[in-house]
Amino acid sequence: MVDFTDTEEQAAFRTEVREFVAREHPQALADDAIYSVGLGGDQIGAVRGEERRKLSRSWREALVEKGWIAPAWPKEYGGADLSVMEQFILNEVFAEMRATPQRVPDVGSTIMVHGSDEMKSKFLPAMVKGQEVWCQGYSEPGSGSDLASLQTRAVRDGDDYVLNGQKIWTSGAHQAKWMFGLFRTDPDAPKHRGISYLLLSMEAPGITVRPLSQITDAKSFNEVFFEDVHVPARNIIGEENRGWYVGATHLDFERSSIGSAIGIQNTLDDLRDYLLPEEEAGSGRSRLSEPSVRAALADRYIEAETAKLFSYRVISMQNRGDIPNYEASVQKVFTSEMKQRIGNTAVKTQGLWGQLYGREDDFTPMRSKWSQWYLATISETIGAGTSEVQRNVIATRGLGLPRG
Ligand SMILES: Cc1cc2nc3c(=O)[nH]c(=O)nc-3n(C[C@H](O)[C@H](O)[C@H](O)COP(=O)(O)OP(=O)(O)OC[C@H]3O[C@@H](n4cnc5c(N)ncnc54)[C@H](O)[C@@H]3O)c2cc1C
Repeated sequence: MVDFTDTEEQAAFRTEVREFVAREHPQALADDAIYSVGLGGDQIGAVRGEERRKLSRSWREALVEKGWIAPAWPKEYGGADLSVMEQFILNEVFAEMRATPQRVPDVGSTIMVHGSDEMKSKFLPAMVKGQEVWCQGYSEPGSGSDLASLQTRAVRDGDDYVLNGQKIWTSGAHQAKWMFGLFRTDPDAPKHRGISYLLLSMEAPGITVRPLSQITDAKSFNEVFFEDVHVPARNIIGEENRGWYVGATHLDFERSSIGSAIGIQNTLDDLRDYLLPEEEAGSGRSRLSEPSVRAALADRYIEAETAKLFSYRVISMQNRGDIPNYEASVQKVFTSEMKQRIGNTAVKTQGLWGQLYGREDDFTPMRSKWSQWYLATISETIGAGTSEVQRNVIATRGLGLPRG
């Protein structure tokens, strides 16, 4: 059973968050959120460059002060010790008010749970302040869904590990100062048991980062090559050859993606508003008066509401202390495929103009938000576990079907 009602304390916290956002979040960023695509799409908005950086910095400083950059973390590491429900409310209000998300890298929670004291004091404060970019070195050319087959070697040599091999699809590696990654330390052990979890400086000699162009024209992915790269052995998290279990630790931090579900509803409102004006301008015929357009948009609204309910289900489980399993896969498959359908609907409703890509072109609807969205969401059903792999989880763990 999902209980939607706030307790008295939760209602008070919701009010506190609303007042904080109204006071601290720059209005220009909220107005600009209409152009947000995710996956680097923020740059297509009107507020860009130094102006955006300045506004984002002031917002981040206000969040740091409150401990709301890493709200689940203990206060001693710059967090706010919020309960699962409070984190959920925080994300919900931020999404409703179109506040720009600001986060710490996921590896921060791993360091907090498994890292040495030295690592905690070295890395966690800098993460909260947003001073250092991190990238994730997991996937390799032959190891994506079957990640445990990864081959990049880390060989112990005195006080160091020496890395040789290649990672791929490494988001943000071209800007990152640090990488957290999985490397093979024992090639003879069963595949899950010969892997170690290392932190390494991206400035170490022997690392080459080569950008990969995406279909959207963005270059946020990279190949990363390692040639005799020395990493201090003290940079290991957990025990040697036990890295798989460190990487797979289920952390009790909010992962319900409620922000994303509400963000989608805002996005549909933006699309509806964009489609309305012809009627208002007196042409007598809005694209929304087309039955097929109305029906498609209504379907997307219903799906967005469903996605929100899936998020509520996951958060309710976490709040009860249960660990969502196939339920999270259901949410991931549904939401990622819905985003692709939204892109399809949006581009179609704009006719031939919908395909234009020139941001500053007067004929391009919404600064190319929708043509960008259409292309950018292709990767949604691949990253963080493909839809096929998620369906396998639903089939075996959710429906109890035998493994194929
Ligand atoms: C937006 C985005 C960001 C990413 N960022 C990073 C990053 O920062 N760091 C990083 O390390 N990686 C990153 N990745 C890589 C991502 O983790 C992999 O792309 C993903 O795990 C799939 O692996 P693959 O591309 O090798 O495809 P493969 O695993 O080779 O899959 C190919 C096809 O086979 C299907 N398939 C595979 N196994 C099965 C199976 N058992 N049953 C049924 N079908 C199967 C898949 O569904 C897919 O259709 C990112 C990917 C995306 C899209």
